[in-house]
Amino acid sequence: MLAQWHAAKDAYPDCLLFFRMGDFYELFFEDAVAAAAALDIALTTRGQQAGEPVPMAGVPVHAAEQYLPRLIRAGHRVAVCEQMEDPAEAKKRGSKSIVRRDVVRVITPGTLSEDTLLDSRRHNYLAACADARGAFGLAWLDMSTGEVWMQPIPSAGGVNMLAAALARIAPGELLAPDRLLDHPELAPLWDDVRDALTPLPASRFDSANAEARLLAAYGVGTLDGFGEPGRAEIAAAGALFDYLALTQVDRMPRLMRPRRLPAPGSAGAVMEIDAATRRNLELAQTLSGERKGSLLSVIDRTITGPGARLLAERLAAPLTDVAAIDARLDAVEFLGAQTAAREDIRGTLRAAPDMERALSRLALGRGGPRDLAAIRAGLEASQALRDALAAMADAPETLGRIEASLGEHGALVGRLAAALSADLPLAARDGGFIAAGFSAELDAQTELRDESRKLIAGLQATYAETTGVASLKVKHNNVLGYFVELGASHADRIMAEGKEAAADSFGLIHRQTMANAVRFTTVELSELDDKISRAGERALAIELELFAELAGTVLAAGDEVAAAARALAELDVAAGLAELAVGARYTRPTLTDGAQFTIAGGRHPVVEAMLEDGPGAFVANDCDLSGADAGRLWLVTGPNMAGKSTFLRQNALIAILAQIGSFVPAAAAEIGVVDRLFSRVGAADDLARGRSTFMVEMVETAAILNQAGPRSLVILDEIGRGTATFDGLSIAWATVEHLHEENRCRTLFATHFHELTRLAARLGELSCHTMRVKEWNDDIVFLHEVGPGAADRSYGIHVGKLAGLPPAVVGRAEEVLRLLEAGDQAGALTRLADDLPLFQAAVAETAPAPAADPVRDLLASVSPDELTPRTALELLYRLKAVMDD
Ligand code: ADP
Ligand code: MG
Repeated sequence: MLAQWHAAKDAYPDCLLFFRMGDFYELFFEDAVAAAAALDIALTTRGQQAGEPVPMAGVPVHAAEQYLPRLIRAGHRVAVCEQMEDPAEAKKRGSKSIVRRDVVRVITPGTLSEDTLLDSRRHNYLAACADARGAFGLAWLDMSTGEVWMQPIPSAGGVNMLAAALARIAPGELLAPDRLLDHPELAPLWDDVRDALTPLPASRFDSANAEARLLAAYGVGTLDGFGEPGRAEIAAAGALFDYLALTQVDRMPRLMRPRRLPAPGSAGAVMEIDAATRRNLELAQTLSGERKGSLLSVIDRTITGPGARLLAERLAAPLTDVAAIDARLDAVEFLGAQTAAREDIRGTLRAAPDMERALSRLALGRGGPRDLAAIRAGLEASQALRDALAAMADAPETLGRIEASLGEHGALVGRLAAALSADLPLAARDGGFIAAGFSAELDAQTELRDESRKLIAGLQATYAETTGVASLKVKHNNVLGYFVELGASHADRIMAEGKEAAADSFGLIHRQTMANAVRFTTVELSELDDKISRAGERALAIELELFAELAGTVLAAGDEVAAAARALAELDVAAGLAELAVGARYTRPTLTDGAQFTIAGGRHPVVEAMLEDGPGAFVANDCDLSGADAGRLWLVTGPNMAGKSTFLRQNALIAILAQIGSFVPAAAAEIGVVDRLFSRVGAADDLARGRSTFMVEMVETAAILNQAGPRSLVILDEIGRGTATFDGLSIAWATVEHLHEENRCRTLFATHFHELTRLAARLGELSCHTMRVKEWNDDIVFLHEVGPGAADRSYGIHVGKLAGLPPAVVGRAEEVLRLLEAGDQAGALTRLADDLPLFQAAVAETAPAPAADPVRDLLASVSPDELTPRTALELLYRLKAVMDD
């Protein structure tokens, strides 16, 4: 047995081996130690090898799904080694022979299909990255839904584009050739995805093999039908398929034809949002990694898992094509106006299960009766929704397309409805899921079983009468089958007549003596028992056959079922966004191909939702970056806590919402499509990656200055804060100039350096804005209003006072500020240092008398108004001479 274990382990050395032994998966040796630690289960031993006890740990098969997520999350991969035959079969080959076992599946983070292992509201992508001829290629798929994607990353875009694309996909597992892992330029990239990374030998990314694999998988003669993917994309997709063959062993998931995303920056590409920007804007999760508090959590009103996944997918990849965005907006607007119909639709969606994942489990041979039921209920919902959509007059094109994709599934629904009983077991092998009346053959076996059971019930009465024991019971257990149970005293009487006699008179065969009862079987009972179990076995075999047949029927209609599932998700997203628009008072944005950016009465969707005072407490603000008079670069000044960051982010979020085809939190919005969005917000420490805050800030600023173009939107919040004041101011200054003159992008720049506002005189499209505050009794009140102009001061001391700095510190700080503002800063600093208040007394006592300074003395003695040019020159010579002494 251990030899068998070693053979399997050698084939999957990097996996924990779940070795099936009866009702348990057992782990041995170092696997046992690792699993015991990760799962907090008992570590025992079993037998010996080379004189040492073999460590062992096990989990019950029925509970394995609860343990697997913990192992996967702890970074393990699990190879499941099953018994491939009944132990009875093995016995037939000889008493010592061992049950045949094979690894049937390798479980990795990117290849999960079970609901218990997956988040129903999030995609779990398996991605691969390859390179060929200097360009990169990406391919990714969601095994649980069968979607496959490819995208080229041109060599010109290089590492930045690759990083942005990976941040968008956020794969659960990323396959990469080990050769690329050592690439110095790519190092920061791998850092970002380290937890998901699975390095593979470069040979698995060979593009010729990959092409052959893809052609075979899709049964086509050329890949050109897939949008003429490049070598790198093909290599990446090939590696994905190869990896599936490796991990799924011989079951391939149902995979759709790959869809191709255009290269970043090309026509029809999605809005590019790099990893830092995604993090900063808290799109799908907050900076602390939670979903709650993210933009997604606030806008997600979808009902179904597939709907939630589609919304997340769209939020990750806003469109840049005005027509496509408008098509989505049309659907949202239409459903927003139709309150009753929308509520009907959402009501029906509540009954629609996750068909996508059910379908994929069926394809992988891991499905059960409940997956068939999910398909049935999902298709029923599709029909109902199709009818609902058909009944709507003047529906926009998007809804028409959804209606068509929902399809016509009457026959399949009818068949599944007839086949499935009301109560369904989890696994097909548990039986009892086929409804009566569906199969005559199955019904015959059921009848046989039920009749025999009736006969047995009758026998209890007969036996009670024959033996004269009214309390006699016929019972059943797995060891004895059906048996007669007698109380001990009655049994004694019968036994006293001798076993033979008992058998003769009543046909009872003694089997077991318990404390208070004795158990007997009879020939009649055994025969009926046999009949029942034979009928049961036969019935189960028939049910399993029917299951396979039904699953086959569903899979044969797989493309249509998947299309219906996708259409349901789209409808869910459209209806959810409509619900959001109505409930949260969002309006339809106008998208153009120009460079407008005019937001009237914009709000921050998340801050607004979180404000405790309820809707209306948020102060709406306008923003206009359309150029000319309004300016293209807004410099936003104002004290801390006045709402600068909120204002900046809300405009970025409004652009994103508009381009995913959602209404936006504003009174009106006109937006020229944003092709790339950059944001550098706040000063987040990135110690985990061994870079100082300031370094991170500069790296991200550099990325923006190097990449932003005229269609980009840039949000810069407090750049240059992480270093000395003059350094910071200088960097901020130069950055503003560069953005204005070179990048020429739409920019919102918040800063506490109000000196920057002086740039307004020189930079034509820079306009100054400030967060308005009201001073009141020496305190300040934040109005959260953006107004024209510049903050004349930064109010930092006020904020410090609000925060509870000791009055002495506040007082002194005000004094220092006055001095600094009065004149030249360098001189003021010298005076301040000479004048440290806290140490003043000590300085007076101990400081040595200042050394005589002849230059100073000389200067003190002259009166400049009385100097003639000639005496002035003489004075200069004398000063120089004194200095040189
Ligand atoms: P700053 O960046 O200027 O320091 P923030 O944008 O971080 O200020 O805002 C501070 C707080 O003020 C926010 O957390 C929010 O609660 C509140 N706030 C900001 N803007 C608004 C607004 N427009 N309406 C209402 N409250 C706001
Ligand atoms: Mg701020």
